[in-house]
Amino acid sequence: MSEIHALGETELQERLRMLQEKYDGFMQRRLKLDMSRGKPSPEQLQLSMGMLDAVTSADGLLASDGTDTRNYGGLDGIPEAKALFAQILEVSPQEIVIGGSSSLTMMHDAIARAMLFGVDADSTPWGKRSAVKFLCPSPGYDRHFAICELFGIEMIAIDMFDDGPDMDTVERLAGEDDSIKGIWCVPKYSNPDGLTYSDDVVDRLARMKTKAGDFRIMWDNAYAVHHLTERADKLKNIFAACRDAGNPDRVLMFSSTSKISFAGSGIAVMAASERNLNVTRKQLSVQTIGPDKVNQLRHVRFFEHISKLESHMAKHASILKPKFDLVLNMFERELDGKGVATWRKPNGGYFISLNTLDGCAVEVVKLAAEAGVTLTKAGATFPYGTDPRDRNIRIAPSYPTLAELETAIEVICVCVEIASIKKIMG
Ligand code: PMP
Repeated sequence: MSEIHALGETELQERLRMLQEKYDGFMQRRLKLDMSRGKPSPEQLQLSMGMLDAVTSADGLLASDGTDTRNYGGLDGIPEAKALFAQILEVSPQEIVIGGSSSLTMMHDAIARAMLFGVDADSTPWGKRSAVKFLCPSPGYDRHFAICELFGIEMIAIDMFDDGPDMDTVERLAGEDDSIKGIWCVPKYSNPDGLTYSDDVVDRLARMKTKAGDFRIMWDNAYAVHHLTERADKLKNIFAACRDAGNPDRVLMFSSTSKISFAGSGIAVMAASERNLNVTRKQLSVQTIGPDKVNQLRHVRFFEHISKLESHMAKHASILKPKFDLVLNMFERELDGKGVATWRKPNGGYFISLNTLDGCAVEVVKLAAEAGVTLTKAGATFPYGTDPRDRNIRIAPSYPTLAELETAIEVICVCVEIASIKKIMG
């Protein structure tokens, strides 16, 4: 099929008629497919069932330091859980606090603490300032943006390039405005673009001059070990980079096993400099007597060490890869060469980011919904839910079966073409 921009009015109308017929066919099938969130499939969850049998006897519930995990205590995690995450995140166990089951909660709480108390004893609570702003590389993770909205933090969208955020703009803004207190980053297999920040971007983030002394990088490394192919992306260690640049307290790192073991019932972690963690631990000790250590022990017993965890992730990849391939092959077959959309081929993570022609994403998501395919709301990947170019759609291929996915992508491709033609024809 030719580039739609090269078609004349009559050809476009004929093409639209054919697409409309296809679309009506989908409507008659009364589909009900939900691709709105990046959830692991039941088959993936099954991979971790052994974890539930990993601790069975009372003896087996003692952590390596003798702590009875069934009882209170252990504010920041059992040693073996810290050691496992230290390997995953390439930091030292002293730089780790294990939390509950959600890294999003830890991010939310870190922002809440900074708003209420400031990032340390010497700094002004962010909430006491007339304005607090965050840099938001976009498209990005909608729930990060929701945290900013909740706390009244003004969001500044930053363009994403192939190697990460537009660093010229990040450096300029962070360097001139002391109400800019931080930046959200999903540095590896980013949500939704699936791209990994380059070494240069990591170095620049670590090194840049910030007007605010209490500037924090919210480094959400949610997809650290979530490779889809043999060609795993390599992310430079921002901890080391920040230390080398003389800014050791700049980065707060987060991760979890939500997409390793059980989503929402995994373990979450925050990693930061010892100085940052000393402040955090003090505040945490008021909030909780300690997190779920039995769950931590289950995880450590099941995964043991990084290499076993990596083979577990390879099993996830063997389920996920065919789904990503299906989507990408169908995009290539149905959309490539038509001038209606572009997309990236990620080496890991949970999403494929589809960019339609400007001004078409809302229409595509609406058409798909009417045909029974629920997608992430258009605009959700941008601050305040508004995509200035109205073009980004986040595709989450993990949950549906291959057969469901095939139908859903067929529908999406037809909707993309219909919306594009309508846009061109005005
Ligand atoms: N960060 C990112 C970038 C995510 O994509 C997700 C899950 N969609 C989360 C955090 C949520 O993690 P958790 O389950 O640990 O709260």
